[in-house]
Amino acid sequence: VFCVECGAEGREMIGSLCRPCYEEKHVWAKMPAHVDVTLCAHCSSALLGDTWKDVQSVQEAIEGALELAIVLPEGGAISDLTFELDEKDPRNMNVRARVSFILKGMAFEREVATLARIKRGSCKECSKKMGSYYEAILQVRGPERRMSEADEEQIEQLVRSRVGSMREHSREVFVSKVERVKGGLDFYLSTSPSARAIARELQESRCAEYKESSSLWGRRGGEELSRMTFLIRLPCFSNGDVVEYQGRDYYVRNMSRNMVHTVDVASGEPKSLKLKGADEFALACPRAKILQAIVLTESDSEIQVLNPEGMTPLDLKKPANFERKGEHIRLVKTRLGTYPLSDSW
Ligand SMILES: [Zn+2]
Ligand SMILES: [Zn+2]
Repeated sequence: VFCVECGAEGREMIGSLCRPCYEEKHVWAKMPAHVDVTLCAHCSSALLGDTWKDVQSVQEAIEGALELAIVLPEGGAISDLTFELDEKDPRNMNVRARVSFILKGMAFEREVATLARIKRGSCKECSKKMGSYYEAILQVRGPERRMSEADEEQIEQLVRSRVGSMREHSREVFVSKVERVKGGLDFYLSTSPSARAIARELQESRCAEYKESSSLWGRRGGEELSRMTFLIRLPCFSNGDVVEYQGRDYYVRNMSRNMVHTVDVASGEPKSLKLKGADEFALACPRAKILQAIVLTESDSEIQVLNPEGMTPLDLKKPANFERKGEHIRLVKTRLGTYPLSDSW
């Protein structure tokens, strides 16, 4: 067997050519004279081909761009790529790359050189953000068109932390802006499902009223685009408050969807109340106004405390299964009466 090209005999043959002749004719690697490496100016992503990808370093972005720019004979696949950079200036670098590749089941290695040019761009998500892009508004409102600063802070923190964890799975989720409006907060969110998930969570955990609506705001390639609005109306109470409901006072332990889990403060009986309309409940005593009173004496059915308002003894009937952990108890005064709160509630 001899090579049809050079006539050599007894060499490793690839088809009708000896290996050196085959390599000379068919094995090559090419690289364009410049390779543009586009980095997002606002985040750590790079444009590779036509998609933006998160990268850990400029080095990684260059590597990705080189891999895409190297041209190999048909059927060739890169198995390894190493390169050295020689920085001409911060935006232009000479690159010497060594590329290993597999072609027709055999391994080859070639050296290529190019100039990498670093460009600044703006990725899809950052462009949207810069343009205050949003697909949904999450409107959170307090009761009676009011929301306390503490509640606002708590809600904003919750929304930002939920969006933060969603971003770990999808870079598309972000808060475009937050607006303080009369009665509450408006969150402009980049995606509807993220806004819906947070709205549902508030509905569940805060017994809030939930409404959603959509409006058409444009078209893209014949497709109708709509913006969603999720309205969450918080009830006038929260965990730890005392509410009045149908002529009795209840201590709110926690809430789930449309259910308020309470204890009747007079009898000590646990009760789950269905929330049909928020106006059926009145705030009898917010948690911030619950008093502390020192215990003077205690019998099976009664407890005597020092009234913190007036410093006179106060005799109170104990609710069922009343428990106290120390010398002080929580004391609540409402329109309907004065009650000791059990430490077990
Ligand atoms: Zn040959
Ligand atoms: Zn970006």
